[in-house]
This record gives sequence, structure tokens and C-alpha cells, in this order.
Amino acid sequence: MIRTAVLLAAGMGTRLGTLGARRPKGFLEVGGAAIVARSLGRLFAHGIDRVVIGTGHLHAHYDALAERLPFVTCVRNERFATTGSMATLAVAGDAVGGDFLLLESDILYDELALHVLLNDPRPNVVLLSGVTDGGDEVWVEADAAGTIHAVSKRRADLASVSGEWVGISKLSLATYRAICAAHADGDYEHAIVAAAATYAIRVRTVEDLAWGEIDDEAQLRRARDVVWPRIVARESARAIRRDVLLTPGPATTTDSVKRAQLVPDLCPREAEFGAVLREVADGCTALVADSRTHAAVLLGGSGTAAVEAMLASAVGDGPLLVVDNGAYGARMAAIADGCGIPCAVFRSDATTALDLAALESALRGGHDGRPFTHLAVVHHETTTGLLNDVAAIGARCRTHGVALLVDGISSYAAIPLDLAAANVTCLAASANKNLQGMAGIALVIGSRALFAGLRPPRGRSFYLNLGEQYRFFEAEGQMRFTPPVQTVMALRQALLEIRLEGVAARYARYGACWATLLDGLAALGLETLVPRALQSRLVTAIREPDQAGYGFAALHDHCRQRGYTIYPGKLADRRSFRVATIGAITPDDIRGFVAALGDYLRAAAMGRKEY
Ligand code: PLP
Ligand code: MG
Ligand code: MG
Repeated sequence: MIRTAVLLAAGMGTRLGTLGARRPKGFLEVGGAAIVARSLGRLFAHGIDRVVIGTGHLHAHYDALAERLPFVTCVRNERFATTGSMATLAVAGDAVGGDFLLLESDILYDELALHVLLNDPRPNVVLLSGVTDGGDEVWVEADAAGTIHAVSKRRADLASVSGEWVGISKLSLATYRAICAAHADGDYEHAIVAAAATYAIRVRTVEDLAWGEIDDEAQLRRARDVVWPRIVARESARAIRRDVLLTPGPATTTDSVKRAQLVPDLCPREAEFGAVLREVADGCTALVADSRTHAAVLLGGSGTAAVEAMLASAVGDGPLLVVDNGAYGARMAAIADGCGIPCAVFRSDATTALDLAALESALRGGHDGRPFTHLAVVHHETTTGLLNDVAAIGARCRTHGVALLVDGISSYAAIPLDLAAANVTCLAASANKNLQGMAGIALVIGSRALFAGLRPPRGRSFYLNLGEQYRFFEAEGQMRFTPPVQTVMALRQALLEIRLEGVAARYARYGACWATLLDGLAALGLETLVPRALQSRLVTAIREPDQAGYGFAALHDHCRQRGYTIYPGKLADRRSFRVATIGAITPDDIRGFVAALGDYLRAAAMGRKEY
């Protein structure tokens, strides 16, 4: 699996005159963005999580970019003014530890180029296009087997032409090292061709690829007027239809997360996949803890599997105190009962804050003459959107020496939380809510020391056993039972995307969506069930209007037809419906939803039957 790219970005852009003197060519803007920013975005969308940029001319622009983006490092070719692209490749490549994609920084391209190279089974491939008339073409000649053997800017130099050099290639580490050993300077194109005498370096032609290089003003005009509209048209033709899920998960995902599921068939018992699992588990852990002291145990299953695994594995003989202030707290009590865990329930109203003093006194009281060993609480009660104060509960658990187990299924990866600081022993989570991955992976995060020693009492669960799962993975680098391979690949991409966005920024984005929703509801005269200050900002329970003609099913269908999916309420005694503001959405989506909601309410009030 290729995960690294090298960008050649040292060039002086002398043919661009003053344009090239002001900024590196990668910072020329096409379609409202710097071409290098677009290139990086497309690389990340294709699972590349490490980009090394070989800089030189006006390197500070790239250094600033690397400062902002955790995946980007810059390596400078100090002699850029007197050396060629090969010298830049040689310094940049030193930071590369595996096979990589090699791109020039001054090209604009349809992302199909990346798809083609990443899916080509051969290790060394140079991408070619058909005729572009782009000016300054580098022509390529290959033999019948597709091995590259000559390049030239003068077409007449070549006996035959297989296509134009695009400036995107794939190289194995071994081939790269051989190239560096043989060439210290000159054009990297010629160095690659020379290496093809010994190493199998093939060409791959995409006849009609939309792409352009920008070395002079004519090429910049062509990039803006010809190449860019073509790229937009082609990429939009391949876009996946967007339906906005305003449901509390699975949440709306990005196209790149959806596409990450389309991978070559892969046996999950291969070491290659084990490395992906480890990376994914560490990435999940790092959102809430230090992955050296803590681990995420992954299981195939929905969120409930994580909650059940946590309760069944972490609570020994108990007793356990479960906080029930909504459907998911009640579900934990039911799971504990099903597992035969000695358990008491602390009930609290679903729309008001927990009485922490009352909870503490229940905790102190014990159960059947024994002190509680564990307390379980839902961080964010998805039933109503009510947030429970986990840090305050954690502090009380610390005082009483009780381990805290948290159902963080709907808060994880949005509401910043540090397990150690909040005194949380285990956190149950899933891939498909704020993480913006696909449904099917349950996870429990806790300390490595805890998982290493967990041996649940006999009869709890064979499959949902966190101790066995953790120890097996540590020993074998595999999951005990078949993992959902494609779902794991989507989670890997989702983690890349949350690392780029950051948990706090993601929560701020969701919060902006929520604030837009509350403004819209107020304008329509609708009320929320939970007071504003107690709301999670992730899920909002809305009181159903008393208006004649209103019906949830009709409202749901009306909104769904307009691209917005909403959720029914979950409280038996208070009629509500729910809108979640999580997933790959923006406040504009919420404005669209509020407009659809307003249309429905007005039509229903007038007794119009089309709804
Ligand atoms: N716990 C909480 C707080 C939830 O919000 C959910 C689902 O919405 C679950 C548990 C159960 O997750 P799943 O439906 O994936 O089993
Ligand atoms: Mg050129
Ligand atoms: Mg160039």
C-alpha cells in the first residue's frame, strides 16, 4: 500500500517572469485555490498520509504549509539555483521509507491520475497522457513491453511516441535508491529513463487525461480556461450523490471515506493488513489518550457491541452502578442484567442535569452490602441530546475508588475528552458517528495495563471479550475473528480526515451547525426538549408542534425528498423528533433543512395534502 508522496517544488519558475518571482509555481491559483493545495487535498483523499516536499526557490511558502499540515514535511535543496530536479528528488527522497508517488508541484490534474497509478499492480510506473497541445511537452518513447526508454522535448528525436510525460509517477524504494546512486543532478526524467535499462520501469497511458503543467503564462491561461473546466466536469460526473443524514449516526461521510472502501481484495491475516489495524487502533486511541499507555480494542460490530464488550469484560463481580437518564443508559442496565452482572440503577430525568450530589450518595451507599466497583454512564445521551458531565463524575469516582465506564458512542471524536484527566477507565465508541467512518466497527479504549490483565468471569461472552481480543492482537498482529476489511480501510481514511481537521475544530463545526439549527427553530416557533446550556450541540430533540395537520411521518418524507433525513423521538412521555448536526455537513446544509422544515409546517397548517 502506497502512503507517501514526494513533490518536486524547488523550481524557479523563470519562464513565468514576475509571477514566478513572487511565489513558487505551486502557489499559482486555479479555480480559487493554489494548485499545490489542491494536489495535497487529492493525495490525502487517496489515502496518502505523508508528503515530502522538495523545496528551494521561495521555500518559505512551503515551510508555512508544512507548519499547518501534520502530514507534510519539507526538505530543502540548498543548491536549487544551480541544480536540476534530480538533486531535489535526491534530498527529498532521503525522508522516504517506502514506495512512493512522485509528483511535480506545478501541475494541475484530474485525480483519476492518482487512482490509476495507485491501482496499477506494477511497482514502477510513469504516467503518460495522449496529445494535449499544452506546449513544452516532454515526449516519451516506450518499447512494446511498455518499458520507458527515451524522453525528449523534441519529438523528432524519438523513433515513436507513446505519450506525453505528465509529471506523476510511482517508484519503488529500491528503484529510487538505484536512481539516486547513479545520478546526483540533471533532470529526473532522464535519470528515470536511464534506470529503466536495469529496473522494470513501465509507462501507463491515460489517453484523455485532463491535466496541464504551468511553466509560462500561456500554460497558466490554458490551465485556467481549458484544463480546469474539464477537471471540474469529469470529477463531478464521478461524484457520489449527496444525501444529508441529520440522524445521530451513521453520519454523512465524505466521498473519500466512501471510496476508501474500494480496495483490492486483501486477506486480513496478512501482515500488511495487521499494520493497518494497528495504525487505525492507535489513531482512534490518540483522539482521547496517549497511544503508548492506552489502546483501542477493535471489534466487528455496532456501537452496542462496544458497550456490551466493555461491561461484560471490565466489570468483574461488581457491583456496578448504571446511570439511566435516557434510552442508552437504560440499555446499559439491560446489558448488565443480561450478562448477570450485579447491578443497581440510578435514574434521572432525561432532560435535566444529573444531580451529582445524589449520584455520589448512591455511589457511597453500595449495593447489597457491597461497595460499587464500577459506575457506567452515557457521555452524550443521544435520546435527547443531553450532555452528562463526565469529568465531574470521574472526579467523584476517583474519590470513592470506583472505575468509570463511559458510553461515548455519540460524543467520541467530537467532544474533546482526555481519558486520564477525566479519570475514565474505559470508553466505548464506534466508527460511524463523529468519526465519520462507516458502520461496523466497535471500539473500546482503555489502558494497556487494564486490557492485558482482563479475565472476565466465565459465561459473560466468548466473542465480546476485550482481554482476549487485546492479547491476541498484541501477540499476532491480527484480530481474533474476521474483521470488516473494507470498513477498516474507510476508518483509516476517516482518521486521516479528523487528524487534518482536529477534534476541537470538528466540534466547532458541528457547534456552528447546531447554532444555525437553533436559530432556525426559534424563527419557526419550535422548542427544544433540553435547556440550551445542557445540550450536546450534536443531537437536538425538538418538541413536536401542536399544530393541526402535523405528522412526523409526513415531515420525514417531505425532508427526505429534499435530501435531508431526520429521526423520530425516543422518549415515551414527551413527543419529539430529532435532528443531529454531525457528519460531513456545514451550516449551509442546516439552512437548507430549516427551509424544508418551514415549507412543511406552512403547508401542513394550510391543510395542503401533498405532504
Ligand atoms: N450508545 C449511544 C449513546 C448511542 O447513541 C448509540 C446509537 O445511537 C448506541 C449506544 C448504540 O449504537 P449502535 O446502534 O451502533 O449499536
Ligand atoms: Mg515543463
Ligand atoms: Mg514544470
